[in-house]
Amino acid sequence: MYKCFSLAAVAALALATAAAAQGPPAPDPALVDDLVAANHILSSEGVVDGFGHVSARHDKDPRYFLLARSMAPGLVTKSDILVFDLDGNAVAADGAALYLERFIHSEIYKAHPEVKAVVHSHSPSVIPFGVTAVPLRPIYHMSSFLGTGVPIFEIRGAGGDATDMLVRNATLGAALAKDLGHSSVILMRGHGDVVVGDTVKQVVFRAIYTEVNARLEAEALRLGDGKVTFLNDQEAAASGATNAPLVGRAWDLWKAKAK
Ligand code: MN
Repeated sequence: MYKCFSLAAVAALALATAAAAQGPPAPDPALVDDLVAANHILSSEGVVDGFGHVSARHDKDPRYFLLARSMAPGLVTKSDILVFDLDGNAVAADGAALYLERFIHSEIYKAHPEVKAVVHSHSPSVIPFGVTAVPLRPIYHMSSFLGTGVPIFEIRGAGGDATDMLVRNATLGAALAKDLGHSSVILMRGHGDVVVGDTVKQVVFRAIYTEVNARLEAEALRLGDGKVTFLNDQEAAASGATNAPLVGRAWDLWKAKAK
């Protein structure tokens, strides 16, 4: 009797181990294709360069997300896309180097169930708005998702005065995810920004127009000697609703250009 129980226990353990080793089911190939295209588009549009990354929450299991191995986004192919859990562990890294800042993605997906895609970049025009008292606000309708302004992540809060500025662990990622709140964008002082969205296409749209908005806002501040009229709350909300179904039109153009 004892022996039977033991065998059953061993069998159950073996099954559980096999299930854990299997990890999540394969993601929708269309999602992987979009993620590869997103890498190329963000590179071609100047949001990322050799650095920066874009991820998508797994379509079949929200406890996982897809992100490339550590490499320049413009060179990412399907075979470079890895699956990660929400602690930032790759399910099957197979020796591949991983982005040091993957915890930006893992902790945002953990803290914000509604978020389905994340871009982290050093979007150049955005940098001045993270280091001055000038708020990044929607200067025109294409960037209405900026709402009434965006938070700034100060890494000294969670990381002290001597970090290398990278969100390189879960503690820093969790602090960033908390400061993000319900915003679409958070600036990272002296570093870059993070943009979140409901889809890969939407997050790419937002990342590109965050960069464009920053460029135009800096120009308007110079021209207007600091006096600029931004979209108000109602205009931003109404414009955001209008833009939502039109994201695919821009995506198709950017994708063709990135080829
Ligand atoms: Mn970075």
